[in-house]
Amino acid sequence: MTDIRHEWDHRIKDWPTIHKIANDLGLAGEGHHFYCPGCQPLRNGAPELAIREGNFECFRCGARGDVVGLVKLARKCDLEAAIAWLERETGTEGTLP
Ligand SMILES: [Zn+2]
Repeated sequence: MTDIRHEWDHRIKDWPTIHKIANDLGLAGEGHHFYCPGCQPLRNGAPELAIREGNFECFRCGARGDVVGLVKLARKCDLEAAIAWLERETGTEGTLP
């Protein structure tokens, strides 16, 4: 499972893909900054969660991780469900070794 996760981290680092994923996760924000699903559910103040090259970090609550971690945080699901969602999202279901 960690190998598959690494594969996803490697695969998803271009901004258009990350931005699409953030949109489809229901994250709102401006540019590379989004409201944190963990600590800003009401979307007040400035968006504190920054996404850069496949990694995210929230400057408010300190949540950080990779794209798979972002899916887990936004959807409040486990690793397996997050990867399954990414497969559906990117249309790559069944193409990973
Ligand atoms: Zn946060």
